Amino acid sequence: MARLEETLHGRRHDPTGGERLAGDRRVPGTGENRVSTPTRNDSVCPQPRGAAEIEHPEGRTHPLSSRPFEIMAPETTPRRRPDPSTGGGQAPGRVVEAFRERTGRLPDGVWSAPGRVNLIGEHTDYNGGCVLPFAAPARTYVGAGLGKEETITLHSVQFPAEDVVASLEGLLAASGPGGQAVRGWAAYPLGTLWALLRDGATCPGLDLVVDSDLPAGSGLSSSAALECATGLAARDLCRFDATPRRLAELAQKGENEYVGVPCGPMDQMAAMACTEGHALLFDTRDGTLVQEPLEPASHGLEVLVIDTRVRRALRDGGYVERRRSCEEAARRLGVPTLREVSGAGLGKALGGLGDPVLERRVRHVVTENERVLAVAGLLRRGQVDGVGPLLTASHRSLRDDFEVSCPELDLAVTSAVHAGALGARLTGAGFGGNALALVPVALERAVRAAVEDAFDRAGFARPVLRLVEPSAGARRDSAAATLGG
Ligand code: ADP
Ligand code: MG
Repeated sequence: MARLEETLHGRRHDPTGGERLAGDRRVPGTGENRVSTPTRNDSVCPQPRGAAEIEHPEGRTHPLSSRPFEIMAPETTPRRRPDPSTGGGQAPGRVVEAFRERTGRLPDGVWSAPGRVNLIGEHTDYNGGCVLPFAAPARTYVGAGLGKEETITLHSVQFPAEDVVASLEGLLAASGPGGQAVRGWAAYPLGTLWALLRDGATCPGLDLVVDSDLPAGSGLSSSAALECATGLAARDLCRFDATPRRLAELAQKGENEYVGVPCGPMDQMAAMACTEGHALLFDTRDGTLVQEPLEPASHGLEVLVIDTRVRRALRDGGYVERRRSCEEAARRLGVPTLREVSGAGLGKALGGLGDPVLERRVRHVVTENERVLAVAGLLRRGQVDGVGPLLTASHRSLRDDFEVSCPELDLAVTSAVHAGALGARLTGAGFGGNALALVPVALERAVRAAVEDAFDRAGFARPVLRLVEPSAGARRDSAAATLGG
């Protein structure tokens, strides 16, 4: 209880949970000195550390991969306890069957991409900051085959009444944010194809069938999973020469400009570049990617994702308004993005804003970025259990300064921490969706029971609880030759 009060109700001007962070050169829990908050030329995001570690999604020269363009996961111990609700479901087999039913033939291949869980770094990706997501075990699968000339057909097992047939010509002609002819789910894969075509891909025609283990709209980024699986399939079938990084960028462009959702770059990069047993430190200012080891089970820990079942849409006003506030604050401070405000310079920056709301927004973004770097440092040193307080401090900042929490998310966090979670926070954009909790294995049942009980007592809908282990990024799952039997 004392720890909960400390972490959730700590001093407003120490949003790092009482720990001193990069702004004053100390890494929490270690006493270790560290260089100052990074500038463009002085990033603390570390550089690749050797051939055995996979850092960049430009994987052409990946030491573990003989196949071009492929991101491969490093070898890790097999999952200790797969949770059927978070992956390994029926989707990969089902998508082949669904493709065969619709087209009378086998797909040319199956491609998949994962959902993502953002360990920490919320609302930093559109401010030039750092994020630290990992791939969820649950994935979206796309069975794809070259199809009728000039035509794209789309079917989703999850949206069976909303099949779409689109002409390539019409797709290429679409323009502008939200300028697409197709609305609904198919806009997401079509947006990616639109961006690929505009980038020079040529495609005779495609049949796409989608199936997924991921809950849509819950904040685990099923949209980016769908886009990235589609992008990989189209790249391979249409012989489009693009790196995974470029595909992630094009998928984001499609969601921004074709679908009309102003998402940042995190989700697509996470889906493309995450690897099993790691969180991905993505510095959105310079594009640096570093795989940080994250195998909670080997530390006696688990990551529990708590889906509040409160649904929000990224088009909703709150997300757009937060982005605008950050842009306005950067404009008033005379910097290109809030990333340029360091922890040490925060006090001065806040004094120059002249608006208490903007002050809170900036304080969240700057301190959150420091928390990301602190968590990455802890993971690198194998101190996973030291991460907990920073997660809870992130939640407090999102709740009080960025104001994107809701009663269900707050209850998920407080009840999990009361029951023994080392830390917890909302994950994803907020306004509903999921929280995550870092939980000692021995306390998992107690934490689950406490969260469910708290929701019952508050009269909230029962949350859905999922164990998640850092899993593999986007990949080709099978080729035509292996699909038949
Ligand atoms: P999130 O990305 O957090 O799941 P979004 O609102 O960004 O939430 O994206 C959800 C939307 O993505 C769905 O409403 C649907 O349009 C599309 N989508 C996601 N998964 C699928 C799927 N398996 N089949 C068809 N469309 C999907
Ligand atoms: Mg999304």
